[in-house]
Formats: sequence, C-alpha cells, structure tokens
Amino acid sequence: MFAVKRALKLNNNQATLMAKHAGFRRVVFNMGLSLRTQLYGQSNLSDSKVISEVKKVLTNHVKKQPEFAWMNQLSSRVYQNALIDLKEGFSRYRSGKAGHPKFASRRDGQSFTVDSSNGKVLLPAGNTIKIPTLGTFRLHEALPHGLASQTFTISKEGNYWFISFCVDAESLPVQQPENSVGIDAGVKSFITMSNEQVFDALRPLKQAKTKLSSLLRKASKQVKGSKNQRKTYNKIGRLHAGIACIRKDLLHKLTTYLAKTFKSIKIEDLNVKGLLANHKLAGAISDLGFYEFRRQLEYKCKMYGASLVLVDRWFPSSKICSNCGHKQDLLLSIRTYDRPACGMSIDRDLNASLNILNWEPSA
Ligand SMILES: [Zn+2]
Repeated sequence: MFAVKRALKLNNNQATLMAKHAGFRRVVFNMGLSLRTQLYGQSNLSDSKVISEVKKVLTNHVKKQPEFAWMNQLSSRVYQNALIDLKEGFSRYRSGKAGHPKFASRRDGQSFTVDSSNGKVLLPAGNTIKIPTLGTFRLHEALPHGLASQTFTISKEGNYWFISFCVDAESLPVQQPENSVGIDAGVKSFITMSNEQVFDALRPLKQAKTKLSSLLRKASKQVKGSKNQRKTYNKIGRLHAGIACIRKDLLHKLTTYLAKTFKSIKIEDLNVKGLLANHKLAGAISDLGFYEFRRQLEYKCKMYGASLVLVDRWFPSSKICSNCGHKQDLLLSIRTYDRPACGMSIDRDLNASLNILNWEPSA
C-alpha cells in the first residue's frame, strides 16, 4: 500500500462544500460520542454493537429533527465514516493504544472521509478527480496514471484542501511482456486466445451446479419444514454463495493476468443483450459473467496501462479463414474450421481469436 495526496483546486462554492462536510463530520462524531457516553458509559457491549445502537438513534430521531435537516443534503458517506472513526477510537482506547476519544473541535483541523460503497473506484490519469458522492474536482498536480481506491480523506491544511487515499502497490502500470492478443469469448470455453491459451472457467462452476441441483432434488423430497430440510436449505445457501465466489475469483485472476501480460487486448464488442435473447447461448454467457469479464477488463487495462480494443460487433470473426481471408458460414455445432482450398484446419474458436487479433478499425 502507498498513499497518494494531492492538493485540490477548488472554487469558492466547492471550498464551502468541503467546509460543510467537515462540519458535518464533526457534529456527527460529537453527537455520537455524547450519546455513546450517556447511554452506555463503560458497558461491556462490543463497540460495534454500541455504535450501531447510537447510529439508530441518530438516524431515526436526530436526523429527522427540522434543525438537522441540512444533514440530509450532505454526503451520507461522511456520516457513516464519522461513526466508523468513533468506533475505532473506542477500540483503540480499550486496547490501551490511545486515550478516551475526545470531542472534535474546529481547532483540531477540518477533515472528513468518504468512500465508495460499491468497492474500489477507478481514478483515471489526469488533472481531475471524481470523489465518490461529492463530484468531480480539479487537482493542482495531475495523477500520472490510472489508480484505484475506495476510501478518500479530504482535509484542510493552511488555505488548501487536500485529498488523500491509499493505493495497493500492486496497482501501478506495468511493462506488459507480450504485445497483443485476440480473444474469442465462447460457449465451449470461456475464452480462447490467439496464442492458443484457453480458459475454461466453466468447470469449477459446473461441478458446483451439479451439486446444487442434487441438493435441490433432495430438499424437494424431504418433509416440508423439517429439521433435515432446513439443513439442506442451509447447504444450498452456502453453495450459492460459493458459486458466486468461484466466479468472481476466476474472473479477477483472469482479467488481472490479461491486463498485466498484453500491451493490447482485442475483444469483440459483443451485444450482450442480443446474445441473451438467444436462449441457447444465454445460459452459457450469462452464467460465466461475460459482462463482468468485460467490466473488469476495462478498468484493469486502464489501471495497468494496457489498451483494450473493441472489435466491431458485426465483424464475422468465426466465418473468416484466418489463413487466406475466405469467408464461409459455419454451423454453431461445427467445432473445426476447415478450408481445404488453402489447407487450413483449425479449432473454430482459435480461428476466431486470430481474426480478432488481425482486425483493424476501418479508417
Ligand atoms: Zn484459408
């Protein structure tokens, strides 16, 4: 991990917005501290439990008072993070690492934290930054390359507002060892690459799915509402979660590998909606999360400095002979591309990936 800090170039309205949020953070922190102390004193309840109770009081009562209506116009992430800070303050105090949390005063400096509730966001290179829930702001010094982070702290030092955030040491542009690759997204294999690598993300998922359908059958035969049926349903729930994890893990490994290995990656700009309308393909493609694959590949390419080239969706990648350029129709069930006239006989998906690699945008 390393920290990035930049001075923000704000106009008056934006500076006022930042000051309001810093004030919001201070008020929430102090209210939380006061409520916590009044209601719970030195109780032995866990800090998380106590803070979540405090939060209920603030959310359901305090924020609804007309004099606090202004809070609803500001980022709720500031509110959430102020209470996280309070909880951490108490945890440090309990573990002897710090004194009892004190009321925040303006003299201690103005600062607040916001985060993205959907995980990391990509910050493209350049002299602006899009801060989750706050908007886009100019920077005095540009970000040299794309970075990804989730939590952002904004603070005032002297007359300047700064933004700081942490970045994984991982997420720096890399020197990709290979030049370019064409990728065919398929049904038989998840992807086939023009360098003859094949990723079959399907197998671990298939196993889990077979297990899932056998559990569902079992549950349907068990006595309704029985202890055993409940047990089976618990297993089914865990397996569902497991399938989501397997899929996510596979996709992340694959997209990271691609973005770090190839300077240029060509994929078909598939019309996912159109494919999903085709029922034969729908299961395979939606299952494998092709949409998610493309989303991850897009942001990882930006992050690691690779370029992602989207091949025209009408390009007939599976019909062309990658050797001589001849075009012929091929049924989906035929797995080998044969072209006796030029002596070509090649796996259908590999042929398509080579065509994708060779594709150039028309000028
Ligand atoms: Zn040919």
